[in-house]
Amino acid sequence: MYFNYESILTFKKKLSKAKLSGDKKITVMIDMDSVMVDPLYIEAMEKFLGHDIDLDDVNSFYVQDVVLGDRKKEFFANFDKVNLYDGAKIFDGCNEVLKKYSDRFEFYMCTDYIWKEAVWAAGANLMNKYNFMLESSVITPRNFIFTGDKSIVKTDIKIDDRTTNLVNARLKVLYTAWHNKNMPDEKLDKEKLVRVSTWEDIDYLFNLIIS
Ligand SMILES: [Mg+2]
Repeated sequence: MYFNYESILTFKKKLSKAKLSGDKKITVMIDMDSVMVDPLYIEAMEKFLGHDIDLDDVNSFYVQDVVLGDRKKEFFANFDKVNLYDGAKIFDGCNEVLKKYSDRFEFYMCTDYIWKEAVWAAGANLMNKYNFMLESSVITPRNFIFTGDKSIVKTDIKIDDRTTNLVNARLKVLYTAWHNKNMPDEKLDKEKLVRVSTWEDIDYLFNLIIS
């Protein structure tokens, strides 16, 4: 957890009276992969390669580039048959926190579903994502957003593990993942980012905002 309290204070100051008092809900966009659930693509790649992958060696967001190398084409050839959410588990505390704050916040799940290596298999991935969220999350399907461009969504708060997906938010919350774990606090400050690593951190943050 790394909170830039100044960013949070500024955010609160800019919120409308109605949102501060609870007459209107504060809107939150939440990313799905690596924020609410870890899709099992590391496992899928390990199964394909026949050996374990050490994520500590990987800093790139596109882990498949590093791990699969020239076997990438082969891996993605049957990608429509791979359900990355079969057996995946929603993160600890996620549903509890969403339920706890549902009176004051309106939560939207926003996720990209297109893999650049297998655009043709996006429909299957979309269905797997939808079914997983429907079964495992307390967010209503009405608030599911599937898009390759999250900048079109404007909400008060955005929580994502990619900084580029946090544009058009008044409060940008970076969720810790392997590819951003080494980002220094100075950079977080400079970009006015708040860092959370668990849903417990998010619980703390939401409480700070409404109290
Ligand atoms: Mg993500």
